[in-house]
Amino acid sequence: MDKPVLYIVIPCYNEQEVLPVTSGMFLNKVKSLAEAGKVSEKSRVMFVNDGSKDNTWSIIRTLAQQDEHFVGVCLSRNRGHQNALLAGLMTAKDMADVTISIDCDGQDDINAMDKMVDEYLAGCDVVYGVRSKRETDTWFKRTTAEGFYKVMNALGTNTVYNHADYRLMSKRALEGLAQFHEVNLFLRGLVPLVGYRSSSVYYERAERIAGESHYPLKKMLNFAFDGITSLSVKPIRLITSLGFFISLASFIGILWVLLTKLLGATVSGWASMLCAIFFMGGVQLLCLGVIGEYIGKIYNETKQRPRFIISETTFEQQPKQ
Ligand code: UDP
Ligand code: MG
Repeated sequence: MDKPVLYIVIPCYNEQEVLPVTSGMFLNKVKSLAEAGKVSEKSRVMFVNDGSKDNTWSIIRTLAQQDEHFVGVCLSRNRGHQNALLAGLMTAKDMADVTISIDCDGQDDINAMDKMVDEYLAGCDVVYGVRSKRETDTWFKRTTAEGFYKVMNALGTNTVYNHADYRLMSKRALEGLAQFHEVNLFLRGLVPLVGYRSSSVYYERAERIAGESHYPLKKMLNFAFDGITSLSVKPIRLITSLGFFISLASFIGILWVLLTKLLGATVSGWASMLCAIFFMGGVQLLCLGVIGEYIGKIYNETKQRPRFIISETTFEQQPKQ
């Protein structure tokens, strides 16, 4: 059997400070994997420029000119990490036998790739990179991120605990992923749905080498909420149960009201009535919001807009058969 062609797929958004440092690390990694005879000499490092506003794309182009191991894909505008990653994976799928996706900031230990490739060679189609420790993350980031995985799983989505988008996927798994046409992308939740044999490789997460995180609290919360609502209908079920319990409580309340009325002690009531009105108003708005979120998702899905548009590549694109 020929050695597998590996593509390392890396989304980049405004990463001009980081790229010059980490690109060399990625290059050494593909070269050493090829020298060790695990992957083919045709393996590449693929950068996806996600509509950066700085010099990221020109850095990628220069890298591609300097060394044939680098290739670049440029999106027509900023589409966010998940879409950029999908664009890279879907482009790489036609040229590679296996891909590894990773962030370009050096936070994920690239040495875990050796073990990932070993697992692939041993027959796994998906290998998850899992953070064993997050000591370098701030307490806040760590707690919010870990809370996120717990909430996700409690809500019934099938995500791998402490796994971000550092993972190996075989061609077959990518072809499976390509059959998921959803616009609301949450790859971490989709990949387990693709199936096939999978395993995990553990590594320690380091600090960002340079530049700043693109995921401040607000974006993180949005991402979490998007993930939950695009993978699970449990929130709507929770609303149904909530409605059920509130109805039950109201029924008991009504019995109590009737009883006090019959006993002739109906002077008070102002406070309890206002509480009930406020409480019900709040609960109803909340529930409408959650349902609205799902309707918004349906709205976006029915439009079937393209998930990414590639404007430029540093290589000849193969004609689609
Ligand atoms: N990224 C992207 N598009 C965006 C935001 C981020 O392609 O709109 C890339 C970014 O360049 C990096 C990866 O996604 O390679 C993860 O981003 P970041 O390191 O800022 O997130 P964190 O590790 O802090 O969660
Ligand atoms: Mg990062």
